[in-house]
Amino acid sequence: MLLNSPDTITAIASGKGGAIGVIRVSGQQAIEICDRIFRPASGKPLKEAKGYTLHYGEIVAHEELTEGTDSCPSEHVIDDVIVSLFRAPKSYTGEDMVEISCHGSRYIEQEIIRQLIRQGARPAEAGEFTIRAFLAGKMDLSQAEAVADMIASVDRATHALALNQMRGGYSSDFTELRQQLIDLASLLELELDFGEEDVEFADRAQLGKLLDQALDKTRTLLQSFGLGNAIKEGVGVAIIGSPNAGKSTLLNALVKDDRAMVSDIAGTTRDVIEESINLEGITFRFIDTAGIRKTEDRLEQMGIERTISAAGKAHVILLLVEAGTPETMLAAIQQNTACISLQADQHLCLIINKSDLANNLPENTATLQTLLAANTNIVPEAILTLSAKTGRNLEQLLNWLSTLFDTKDIYTGVTVVSNSRHYEALYRAEEALCRTQTGLQNGLAADLVVQDLREAIFHIGLVTNVVSNNDILNNIFSKFCIGK
Ligand code: GDP
Repeated sequence: MLLNSPDTITAIASGKGGAIGVIRVSGQQAIEICDRIFRPASGKPLKEAKGYTLHYGEIVAHEELTEGTDSCPSEHVIDDVIVSLFRAPKSYTGEDMVEISCHGSRYIEQEIIRQLIRQGARPAEAGEFTIRAFLAGKMDLSQAEAVADMIASVDRATHALALNQMRGGYSSDFTELRQQLIDLASLLELELDFGEEDVEFADRAQLGKLLDQALDKTRTLLQSFGLGNAIKEGVGVAIIGSPNAGKSTLLNALVKDDRAMVSDIAGTTRDVIEESINLEGITFRFIDTAGIRKTEDRLEQMGIERTISAAGKAHVILLLVEAGTPETMLAAIQQNTACISLQADQHLCLIINKSDLANNLPENTATLQTLLAANTNIVPEAILTLSAKTGRNLEQLLNWLSTLFDTKDIYTGVTVVSNSRHYEALYRAEEALCRTQTGLQNGLAADLVVQDLREAIFHIGLVTNVVSNNDILNNIFSKFCIGK
């Protein structure tokens, strides 16, 4: 990654297949280079034009001189274009910039790029326009990352997260938190300066209070990652249960098509099948798995192993049993959870399927609950009785899933962390703040307490990158695509 490169860079900024293509040029020579290939209809070169202006004209290719001839280079028109002109510092990158809107043919776009390169520009690297914007102070690091999220947004929720992060409400939360910690550190450092005189300037109880506030704030941001990550990455939902319990039928009913194979022969869902639905901005990725049972069939065994692995990674587990007597249902639950260790942060819903065939369902469900409590440590968050085949009570399942994540906050500008780099920074900061807290409570010397506090400040700073670190920059911007 080229930081602080003086080159003028160019790249196609638009996606494939549109009617219009956009080529970006940025750098000290952007306008001069474009003037050499742009023939404005007005006859007035770009170098005489103001920023924020549009210019209609032609892009012309200058043919190479054939060796040994003294003829003038011939020209031919590549395309009719509109050129948008931006002058430093009022542009995306903060430099002189030109954006050429041409017809959206990959051939035309490549030809224009070729001409620009011949005139002295160089192809931009991944994320290089945005890194220039960041280096010019146009945005902080979390805002630059939000540019990538904005482009990748696929629905209202991912868009709302990216927009909030890009607009700076997000950054100001982190800047405020960092400032709070800096103030706290200054108070403690004041004590250090007068350490010899054995004075305690800062009231430790007051410091403790300020620290608690900062810690609360850090934890709130950390906790928001559950929602942010669910919105950004989707939520894995593993459907597990004995063969023939109705897992594939349920998956089909949920996604309303016939992709999963449904059959009467036990053990047919040998592979892991994934389908997604979006509920109120959250994408739930349902994973239909092989039924867990003892088998000699190697293929089926592989499917079962994959089930166990999918269940381990899933955020939500739908444990499906056929409606029956409380005892048969308990046995099925025990068999299916025997090889799966349910984790504390996993949401478990017990689904009693085939309710259309069942008798005494309410009584049997109540007895099953008592049996579960007495014989297992399985505590489902919800127990639903439904029929995957007829669709009865399917709504209840969808409603339960929707309640797992409260998305309304993200539309009111509340900061929700969705970036795992930011999560890690917060996590490290929280660790350091906990050590600071223990230090203060145990009456540790100010210089030791300050060390931990400084560490927390460092980690919070990494989110907006007040602390400059080239490795982090490279890591972030190399994931951008070219043209951003
Ligand atoms: P899987 O092995 O758990 O994936 O089970 P399938 O989805 O393949 O279903 C096994 C059989 O049970 C099929 O014949 C389904 O039509 C049937 N089935 C699934 N759900 C229901 C239901 O709610 N009611 C009834 N009556 N049959 C169902």
